[in-house]
Amino acid sequence: MIRINEHYEKLASSYLFSTIAKKVSDYTVKNPGAGIIRLGIGDVTLPLAKSCIEAFHSGVEEMGDEKTFRGYGPEQGYDFLRQAIARNDFQSRGAEISPDDIFVSDGAKCDTGNFQEIFAQDIKIAVPDPVYPVYVDTNVMAGRTGAFTNGRYEGLVYLDSTEENGFVPPPPRDKVDLIYLCFPNNPTGAAVSRKQLTEWVDYARSSKALILFDAAYEAFIRDPQIPHSIYEIPGSKEVAVEFRSFSKTAGFTGTRCAFTVIPRECQVYDSTGKAVPLQPLWNRRHTTKFNGVSYPVQKAASAVYTASGKKEVKDIIDYYLENAKIIREKFTSLGFACTGGDNSPYIWVKTGKDSWEFFDTLLEKARIVTTPGVGFGRCGSGYIRVSAFNSRQKVEEAMERIGKII
Ligand code: PLP
Repeated sequence: MIRINEHYEKLASSYLFSTIAKKVSDYTVKNPGAGIIRLGIGDVTLPLAKSCIEAFHSGVEEMGDEKTFRGYGPEQGYDFLRQAIARNDFQSRGAEISPDDIFVSDGAKCDTGNFQEIFAQDIKIAVPDPVYPVYVDTNVMAGRTGAFTNGRYEGLVYLDSTEENGFVPPPPRDKVDLIYLCFPNNPTGAAVSRKQLTEWVDYARSSKALILFDAAYEAFIRDPQIPHSIYEIPGSKEVAVEFRSFSKTAGFTGTRCAFTVIPRECQVYDSTGKAVPLQPLWNRRHTTKFNGVSYPVQKAASAVYTASGKKEVKDIIDYYLENAKIIREKFTSLGFACTGGDNSPYIWVKTGKDSWEFFDTLLEKARIVTTPGVGFGRCGSGYIRVSAFNSRQKVEEAMERIGKII
């Protein structure tokens, strides 16, 4: 008899995006041609940068010629990309990360989701609330939680991200072993200061814990005081893994390329308390279960680091950031407290109402789709997430509509 992994039965159904889709489709049936504007999704809308497309094409051409054809590449990624990443994303900021510390992959979703499998079953895990659901669900699937009750899984430590702490939770009083942090944050848009990140690094060092730092939205940071990488914090290399992605940085959501950084100094422990280097463990996992990102895609990704690529990618992000500014200013002018939108494509709006009620008002009265904050966790209750990923014209029209109904 083939039996299932019963931990899957504990998973709370994620009604969020299916409920949104159903509400939007019901509304469209009743109001055909309503001209709905979507500010709910976390997907990019602008095409790939010109430099990336050119590199992508040339990679494809090489694959079509016997002299330059390539089969399986190194599972960890081609050297040309790993070197470009190490130099531009880390060494240029004073973080001594070497190309060998970088593992290229097809997405930060897979990496943040898969990373937990190299740790013991009975570790204590801390996750933010509200949260990118992948961190939680993959640990539920792995059997590291109890049942889902009152909107939370038993056994997890939730790090409340609230207005009071500026949506950057401090380290918990309880001792935890594995900590998921995401900055700039999805969904709140909050960024972490150097001082706050230093507190986390100090906590991890003193409790022999590991931080999984998701920096998928790093490219949106514009405030020079905000660290782009956790490795800008002294002492972090021993206690932190960083996830990055070309998805939001360079519009690769449909193209797929990301990377995980595990410094060779990073260490974890066996059951006797003996320190074990983390990098070889992930290398073993990665080379066993993953066969590399395609050559043309890695070529396209490496074009992000050329002079023209850097400029094009910056222009694209600036475009979304201008959208975010327009959204944030509008909601603020209407009297709503907002976070994010300055170093992030997301604006977290305090609605003063139930998240779904506010979502319904925006849909039915202004034909605008947002994301109810409560769908990301209990602390998201009363908030909505508004995304800046859309055209300027649609964002402006959406804000005009909101101005008329509120
Ligand atoms: N991490 C966060 C916080 C995200 O919001 C997302 C996508 O929305 C991802 C990771 C996934 O990135 P990728 O497209 O590289 O899988």
